[in-house]
Amino acid sequence: MLETLIHIDPNMAPASQGGLLHNRWHPDIPMVATVKPGASFRVECADWTGGQIFDDDSANDVRDVDLTKVHYLSGPIGVEGAEPGDLLVVNILDIGTLPSSDWGFTGIFAKSNGGGFLTEHYPDARKACWQFEGIYAKSRHIPGCRFAGIMHPGLIGCLPSADLLKTWNQREAALVATDPGRVPPLAALPYADTALMGKLTGAAAAEAAKYGARTVPPREHGGNCDIKNLSRGSQVYFPVYVKGGGLSMGDLHFSQGDGEITFCGAIEMAGWIEINVDIIKGGMQKYAVTNPIFRPSPLEPRYNDYLIFEGISVDESGKQHYLDAHVAYRRACLNAIEYLKKFGYTGEQAYAILGTAPVEGHISGIVDIPNACATLWLPTGIFDFDIRLTPQGPVRQQFGGIDLAVTT
Ligand code: ZN
Repeated sequence: MLETLIHIDPNMAPASQGGLLHNRWHPDIPMVATVKPGASFRVECADWTGGQIFDDDSANDVRDVDLTKVHYLSGPIGVEGAEPGDLLVVNILDIGTLPSSDWGFTGIFAKSNGGGFLTEHYPDARKACWQFEGIYAKSRHIPGCRFAGIMHPGLIGCLPSADLLKTWNQREAALVATDPGRVPPLAALPYADTALMGKLTGAAAAEAAKYGARTVPPREHGGNCDIKNLSRGSQVYFPVYVKGGGLSMGDLHFSQGDGEITFCGAIEMAGWIEINVDIIKGGMQKYAVTNPIFRPSPLEPRYNDYLIFEGISVDESGKQHYLDAHVAYRRACLNAIEYLKKFGYTGEQAYAILGTAPVEGHISGIVDIPNACATLWLPTGIFDFDIRLTPQGPVRQQFGGIDLAVTT
């Protein structure tokens, strides 16, 4: 077994974990450990909310979650010899669950607190809890569906430089300024009150917290990319911006569909990740790297029959949009949900399935004016009944009124 470089207790508050967790990006956050190139080790991670969501049958916790606190990341980890302009090579060797937290959750976030891809259609908080059976996941809130997981970190990347951090804050503030009152907001700007700055303490932490970038979006360093194929067995090349690199990670997912559409759309979990790190000196310039590059795992769930739903860039009101892949993917998702409802699922259950199962999302056409065409690939093998089209029509399943957890 590899050395555990970062050991946390998922059932304890993030602020009581000895500075091993942080929830902002800032170059002044000190390394919690430094390793040599070539080192392999294990890192334990809290779930992305730091324990705000519970394994029960109420969605009150999802409704009330404090999103200014997320995401809690383990690190940063320094690599000896890494310097700005290098690439940090990260081999994701394996990922697993912690015995003290052997479950996962999916939330549909309320429009007033986070929202999601389909928040105009599904504005209320809902929750599904998942049980793990080895490599499989199933939910007591979603009958008739079980699938193989594709565990991955939703969030991983290196610390930004001071200059890069300034760029992020400026461009995101400019976007928010175009519609400052919007719900949900256009971007999550720095917010000092709930910043956890790792091992940085006192006045220095308070000062850095004013500018620490929120962890919500993916950025040049990777960060919250939520790429389901960044799974165990994959290899990632991260740009390095500060001495030592400062690699942090968290937001582990047991499984996720492309797009993570319910926002907290994956099966979220606490867990461990084993990685191996190395350096390519000057790699950013050598390979023209601005954003991370990765190679996929040799392992993935083998689903080879899909129902593929098309969507085009004409919105729900019939308005024509110009090659808008966002609108097209939304329409593809809505088409899949309406289809699944014919088999007895509620819209919320179908929405949660699309967010969590190994669903493929593709930009299939992006040049045929005026319509982008997006496709959503739903594996037929994840259901324990036949969801294919037949001349007889859909067979409505008897799910006995089971649904996602609601607020009380
Ligand atoms: Zn996540």
